[in-house]
Amino acid sequence: MPFELAEFVNLEAVTQYALYALSCMGAFLAALWLALVIWTFKDMRSRSRDIFAAILAALLVAILNIPALLIYLILRPRETLNEAYERALEEEALLQQIEVRNSCPGCSRPTKDDWHLCPHCMTILKKACVQCDYPLDLTWNVCPRCSTPAPGRGSEVEPETPSSPANIVPSQANNASIIDDTQETPATVQSPNGE
Ligand SMILES: [Zn+2]
Ligand SMILES: [Zn+2]
Repeated sequence: MPFELAEFVNLEAVTQYALYALSCMGAFLAALWLALVIWTFKDMRSRSRDIFAAILAALLVAILNIPALLIYLILRPRETLNEAYERALEEEALLQQIEVRNSCPGCSRPTKDDWHLCPHCMTILKKACVQCDYPLDLTWNVCPRCSTPAPGRGSEVEPETPSSPANIVPSQANNASIIDDTQETPATVQSPNGE
């Protein structure tokens, strides 16, 4: 009876089939192992600039496999570098919105763009342009609408211009050209005399 069964099933074919299935399984497991190691390395790289941390995580997964991967999934940094960058951008945008909303430096109550004076504490917020009455920020040097120097700023700049050395150099150059002319004129006078 056992001989008949062996002939019917063909033991050799079964063992070959089992070996084939085992090798397929082994190849799959090896590929899975490699994929897990690569995935861990890439995932850590996207979450941390520290390449040694990525190598260490990949090594742990390579050695201990699934248990190490589970521990890594629990301990890895919560957000990727891209997510952290986007969050920083959003925070900066929010901060800028807060800064743009004007407030009085004296009493920090909200103010409006065209207010020259805080109505609560009388702090001077803006000064009017002498030319077009545009409300100027106290730190501005010039009116952005008509480019007139802001009051109290233009007088500081003007006295420097007359004493600049640029005015002296052209006059010396003119003198030199006059001397050249006087030297040349006798020559031009002489030649008519010679003829
Ligand atoms: Zn105020
Ligand atoms: Zn102006």
